[in-house]
Amino acid sequence: MNAPDKVVPIEPAPVEEVSLYEIRKKIHPRAVTGWFATLRWAAVAFTQLIFYGLPWLMWNDRQAVLFEIGARKFYIGGLVFWPQDVIYLTVLLLIAAYSLFLFTTVAGRLWCGYACPQTVYTEIFLWVERKVEGERAARIRLDAAPMSAAKFGKRAAKHAIWIAIALWTGVTFVGYFTPIRELVRGIPFGLGGWETFWILFYGFATYGNAGWMREQVCKYMCPYARFQSAMFDKDTLIIAYDTVRGEPRGARRKKIDPRAQGLGDCVDCGICVQVCPTGIDIRKGLQYECIGCAACIDGCDQVMGKMGYPKGLIRYVSEHGLEQGYDRAAMLRRALRPRVLVYTAILIAIIAAAGFSLASRNPLKVDVLRDRGALAREAGPGVIENVYRVQIMNTDETPRRFTIEASGLPGLEVVGVEQPVAVDAAGSRLVPLRLTVGAEAAPPGTHKIELRVRAVDDAKVARDERTTFILPRP
Ligand code: SF4
Ligand code: SF4
Repeated sequence: MNAPDKVVPIEPAPVEEVSLYEIRKKIHPRAVTGWFATLRWAAVAFTQLIFYGLPWLMWNDRQAVLFEIGARKFYIGGLVFWPQDVIYLTVLLLIAAYSLFLFTTVAGRLWCGYACPQTVYTEIFLWVERKVEGERAARIRLDAAPMSAAKFGKRAAKHAIWIAIALWTGVTFVGYFTPIRELVRGIPFGLGGWETFWILFYGFATYGNAGWMREQVCKYMCPYARFQSAMFDKDTLIIAYDTVRGEPRGARRKKIDPRAQGLGDCVDCGICVQVCPTGIDIRKGLQYECIGCAACIDGCDQVMGKMGYPKGLIRYVSEHGLEQGYDRAAMLRRALRPRVLVYTAILIAIIAAAGFSLASRNPLKVDVLRDRGALAREAGPGVIENVYRVQIMNTDETPRRFTIEASGLPGLEVVGVEQPVAVDAAGSRLVPLRLTVGAEAAPPGTHKIELRVRAVDDAKVARDERTTFILPRP
């Protein structure tokens, strides 16, 4: 009998722990100059001029843009919006959504790269960081250095400036909801609870997101990065590295002919990675972390310029453009594809309809409520009375006087209200009134009638509101 084979115990495979949490590597983006950096700063200036400046503009002795939630009135220039105008908010959101679809389909993450508050404030906070702590290399050294008086001083100065910017951003934000002049004057004497809460909340969010979280917000918190790919197609302009031209990459002396050495145009300097605010290497292809800021284009163009190579190794290009070698004109022609034209047509139609509706908007709004406590009663021999409450809202900037008439039944009369009814500028007034009619004017039952409210000084400012009149059985 053969001896049994020796049993070799199977060694358990080493257990490799896979962390679901990626430890953050701090990114120190290198400063970059160039066409797209200028464009980004222009976007920062434009958006922040609007954000910080708008609440200080005045219009007819009041703040030009003010969302008075307590009074349920929104002022935008000469327009006053009431809760009944919520449709305009819906239209505004639609326009914003369609614009985002359109711009993303044409040129990828333009919003993220140039106008998103996260990008804009990160850019501002980074600028402060550079001014206080120095350029990329100095910041890396400072990070690695042990705490000292100099390091503490720089850190304290940086955070103090960040906090000041963040708090002023919070004040400005609250200034859209409460008159900003009063708000700022009130700061030394203490503000109300809600105002204090929202200033600190918004300020803290700005400080945390732009100072500390930075690219983490784009990578892990922003949902837009995740679903934008649904809006991309092969003709969408993206920021991409031209692999055919760039590879094989490698360091070389300036004077040599790279083709003779079997090299592409990428000198593997790593500048495109160093300037990237999300720390990715665009040479690895399109990645969801890329916010489309174009810093790598500027960085690489500078390198190409120094080497004497044509610019555009990293550039705005479509996938089709890269594959087929389209020139700029061909790519622009393909930008006008059916999907883009449909988005554009819908966007123009919505904007035109909203513009027309706003321009022809009636500054008078009327709500008629029947008094539910008393449906109908006898006001005298053979006279029936119904009671109503009429809310007259004057959304104009001038006070107005209104008359109220009723029609729909023979001999229907408005009583119990002194006419004309005066309503303040951008004000509303609740008017209790009674309508009377002869008991024989119509058969018993519910009858449709109309109330017409009309401005004394302008017959075009009028509203007809339908309601009912009840004639009881005798
Ligand atoms: S900046 Fe340009 S040349 Fe330098 S590594 Fe990036 S792609 Fe290559
Ligand atoms: S890869 Fe280029 S475009 Fe994308 S985030 Fe980095 S620097 Fe900006």
